[in-house]
Amino acid sequence: MAPETNLTAMDGPAQRLSGVQAAIARAARHAGRNPQDVTLIAVSKTHGADAILPVIAAGQRHFGENRVQEAQAKWPALKAQAPDVVLHLIGALQSNKAEDAVRLFDVIHALDREKLAAALSAAIKKLGRTPQLFVQVNTGEEPQKAGIAPNEAVAFVTSCREVHGLSISGLMCIPPEDEEPAMHFALLAKLARQAGVAGLSMGMSGDFETAIALGATHVRIGTAIFGARGKVAER
Ligand SMILES: *Cc1c(COP(=O)(O)O)cnc(C)c1O
Repeated sequence: MAPETNLTAMDGPAQRLSGVQAAIARAARHAGRNPQDVTLIAVSKTHGADAILPVIAAGQRHFGENRVQEAQAKWPALKAQAPDVVLHLIGALQSNKAEDAVRLFDVIHALDREKLAAALSAAIKKLGRTPQLFVQVNTGEEPQKAGIAPNEAVAFVTSCREVHGLSISGLMCIPPEDEEPAMHFALLAKLARQAGVAGLSMGMSGDFETAIALGATHVRIGTAIFGARGKVAER
């Protein structure tokens, strides 16, 4: 038995990371899937370098942030220490920040409207840098939430390709907090098949096992790795 002091020391982000990795692998095998087909994005929004560095040291390479400005302040220094980090933008993106986002991020999960598609296309051409793009779908059709409506999603992916010359890697959703997430994940998977995209960015700390059972290729996990975030800093 480990002494109690060690148990406390073990309860840091790096230890929680390995617990999450094990849970992802279990969920994948249970669904008859290869655990390597599920990318874990460690969502480090609101957390500083002191929390992030141990997770990098533990081998984690995919990280998610929801605000361009916060990521600009944190990640250049962290990336200097770990140049192979893959940075994901998982939050809403304003068109006038498209260039900043294309410069810093390797994957953008929140493409949800024509104006942003045009801005990203222009930024990609100008900077010669091509992040992977996910189209966010508002599967719960919540007025306050970003994302394209489900019945417009397939046509929007086509428009991204044909009008804006963008390559789309997959779809992303955030289910409503008060609903069973499974039906939202199943809807996103169905839309992805119809749109002909392979990626499914779905599943957070509370529901990633369900998301993996329904085909998630990218799970975005913050709290289960880094612990609770301050309420004020959250949005
Ligand atoms: C914050 C956030 C997450 C992580 O949520 P947790 O419940 O802390 O795992 C995932 N996706 C998006 C879009 C987020 O903003």
